[in-house]
Amino acid sequence: MTHVFHRHLHSTPPVAACASGMRIQDAAGRSYLDASGGAAVSALGHGHPDVLAAMHAQIDRLAYAHTSFFTTEVAERLADELVRTAPAGMGHVYLVSGGSEAVEAALKMARQYFVEIGQPQRTHFIARRQSYHGNTLGALAVGGNAWRRAPFAPMLVPATHVAPCYPYREQRAGETPEQYGLRLADELDAAIVAQGADRVIAFVAETVGGATAGVLTPVPGYFNAVRAVCDRHGVLLILDEVMCGMGRTGTLYASEQEDVVPDLVTIAKGLGGGYQPVGAVLAQKKIVDALSQGSGFFQHGHTYLGHPVACAAALAVQTVIRRDGLLAKVRADGLAFGAMLRQALGEHPHVGDIRGRGFFWGIELVADRGSKRPFAAALKVHAAVKQDALARGLLCYPSGGTADGVHGDHVLLAPPFIASRADLQEITRLLGASITAVTRASV
Ligand code: PLP
Repeated sequence: MTHVFHRHLHSTPPVAACASGMRIQDAAGRSYLDASGGAAVSALGHGHPDVLAAMHAQIDRLAYAHTSFFTTEVAERLADELVRTAPAGMGHVYLVSGGSEAVEAALKMARQYFVEIGQPQRTHFIARRQSYHGNTLGALAVGGNAWRRAPFAPMLVPATHVAPCYPYREQRAGETPEQYGLRLADELDAAIVAQGADRVIAFVAETVGGATAGVLTPVPGYFNAVRAVCDRHGVLLILDEVMCGMGRTGTLYASEQEDVVPDLVTIAKGLGGGYQPVGAVLAQKKIVDALSQGSGFFQHGHTYLGHPVACAAALAVQTVIRRDGLLAKVRADGLAFGAMLRQALGEHPHVGDIRGRGFFWGIELVADRGSKRPFAAALKVHAAVKQDALARGLLCYPSGGTADGVHGDHVLLAPPFIASRADLQEITRLLGASITAVTRASV
């Protein structure tokens, strides 16, 4: 074991040595095609010269200034850019260092909003099962992954979990997608009423689910119905776009495709594309106005808020995405990628579902397609696919295991937006080979 505290204490991963474009190379000289952008982080691939130049220039000018003394030009420019391109009404940006920090800040901002407007009895969050919002205690409280929560459950802030939008498993026979979405919204309504509508702060959801169940795309009308339920009860809607936002699904925000506007939205991963740790909360004007006209202070903060080099990296990543028309590319190539995956794996006896948007795809693996029976959790098929793919020189992101409260095994694909059609073909080919090899050995 090395002295670095790795998440798996009994194994040491390969040593990443250098990277360029779509590939990472380890210290032994092996090259890996990055089909998941790490964990849906890398938007421009590795070593993009414009981002590196922007970071170098910022380091030379000003590497750090604490936000209790200063704002910086680069943080202001990034916030201007984010507000300009944000969902309607987002007036302010709170700049943090990652996804969990963004979720944590959003939860606290929502709570403080109600304290400021004279509704301090609101202390409860409602979120969804099979969701992931981060690993800090607040984010873990709203997350719906039973396994991750278990050791910390007695210490978490109050949250109720309702069903995710998971049509492959949970849409009933004879129910249209629209009816299914309305049923889920009714369930949310009932959960809010059961809790006492005046005690609920917010409903928290990933617009497109990611880390826990291999990409869960909402059915049409679901988020509109959810928004209406929240409005009816004066409950805020917090959309977590840490993974699915910043162009990953083909629009800057996944919520644009749902035609829904949240009260707070969290972003991270693709914001800085992995060049620096950076995240943000975007807030509707009414929330910041309430704080501004009340105590005049957001009771929160971290040492590295609005870090200048992180802001420079994020600004450069977002500028390149816009300049190079990468959202349109992700939409077009995303359709092609989906078609490739369906052609190669759509009839595979152990592929139950292929779903996604843009450059964000999930593949659900099953022991039996007809009954949708998952593989036994103990087989850890998702982890075996990751290992097999790694040996073939492919990086993909697995999730699953019924111990997580998740049905079955999933593989998440989230390539950098610069991936060529040939890269997407190669990803499809290598992953197909891994799925076949592992599932054949698992039945
Ligand atoms: N929210 C969502 C939707 C995520 O997918 C993640 C990470 O996977 C997080 C929050 C936490 O982000 P971080 O790992 O940067 O703390």
